[in-house]
Amino acid sequence: MNSMNRRHFLSGIATGSLALAAPNRLFAQTKPRILIRGASIFDGQSPALVNGMDVLVENSIITAIGESLSADEAEIIDADGRVLTPGMTDAHTHIMWNDTIENLIFGSPHEYTGAMAAESARRMLLRGFTTIRDMGGPSFGLKRAIDSGVVPGPRILPSGFFISQTSGHGDFDPRLSYLSPHFAGQLDPAYLRGWTIIADGVPEVKKAVRETLRYGAAQIKIMGSGSITGAHDPLDVTEYTPEELSAIVKEAEHWGTYATIHAYTDVAIYNALQAGVRSIEHGLFASEETMQMMKDKDVFYSTQFLSFSVGPEQAGMTGDSVPKYLEAQAGATNGYERSKALGLKMSFGTDILGTIDLGPFQSQEFLARTKYYEPVEILIQATSLNAELFERSGKRHPYKAGPLGLIEEGAYADLLLVNGNPLEDISLMANPDEGLGMIMKGGVVHKNTLS
Ligand SMILES: [Zn+2]
Repeated sequence: MNSMNRRHFLSGIATGSLALAAPNRLFAQTKPRILIRGASIFDGQSPALVNGMDVLVENSIITAIGESLSADEAEIIDADGRVLTPGMTDAHTHIMWNDTIENLIFGSPHEYTGAMAAESARRMLLRGFTTIRDMGGPSFGLKRAIDSGVVPGPRILPSGFFISQTSGHGDFDPRLSYLSPHFAGQLDPAYLRGWTIIADGVPEVKKAVRETLRYGAAQIKIMGSGSITGAHDPLDVTEYTPEELSAIVKEAEHWGTYATIHAYTDVAIYNALQAGVRSIEHGLFASEETMQMMKDKDVFYSTQFLSFSVGPEQAGMTGDSVPKYLEAQAGATNGYERSKALGLKMSFGTDILGTIDLGPFQSQEFLARTKYYEPVEILIQATSLNAELFERSGKRHPYKAGPLGLIEEGAYADLLLVNGNPLEDISLMANPDEGLGMIMKGGVVHKNTLS
């Protein structure tokens, strides 16, 4: 071994031992055993509460559920009859998006974006959300910091880069004179900052999906149609060809996971279903036939209710966005009614983004759904049904130690104690500061206002 190799060898050891040092968990105290005593359990699936139950948590997992469990060396949390639910989950977030998209890709420093996202994650956890499926944005670093136990926040199933065609919904650069790298131009700043890969044609979309999976994406997010706020694409635009969509889906499947799609137009949704996409985001203009196809193919409908239950002004729309918003809102009512009548698998997702102060609207989604669903249906959507959607990430699912969204032995100890019965009064979930007495994620207590 020459001296050069030896130096490398030694520095390798030094790096390794630093990496092994356990991060300090400064935000909450960890106990190996916690006994939650005397809870009424909503298990995430059954509409009936089970009263007077104890739940034993060991490390990050629920290990026993029953009456009068032994409290051997366990820390006791006395539920005093409160309702114990699984942690809530959100199937459509953009945890990194706490700024205008122009600032995110041009203006704000990376570290500002990261710091705001960390605070956004902490607040989200304190609203009772213990897992999110992130529908686009560079969330891999935040996920790592949260999973290591240093930064408080929900579990993240990241999508990473949006896969978008040129001038598609992920083509964020507002400059028309922007030169594509293919024509001796410059790299897309949204690519450099981890937001979008612009890919056209089968070979490019394959490469884009492979690159995204390299980062650790749990699923692939396609931008498949125009939208209300896009820089270039009107609401009526259908993006990607069936061949491109099929190529994306196949690449995702080769990695054991699936693709989901931002799609409004009926053609975009139809093409996506034919290609094997497993979840439709927004999907508001799907015809009855296309919705029936979603049902037949067991595809999740991942739409939002709060976003379209307010006026354009309250939704933050200005200028050109206002008529597009109103058009989408009209489609929304149809979409909600059709999907409800067909009994589609409806996930619980909010798509709240833009500034950190908008975060509390995430909890208002519980109320916005009461026009169409009973509280128990909404709670099932936000727990076990979302968890079923997350399972579609298969081998790329980052949290495989037990089920999410359920209270059962072997499940992750992601638990909330509610100060009342959310099956009767869902507004408890919409007001988490008052409504939630205890928030636990993976056996770590992040909030406890009980004795
Ligand atoms: Zn979104």
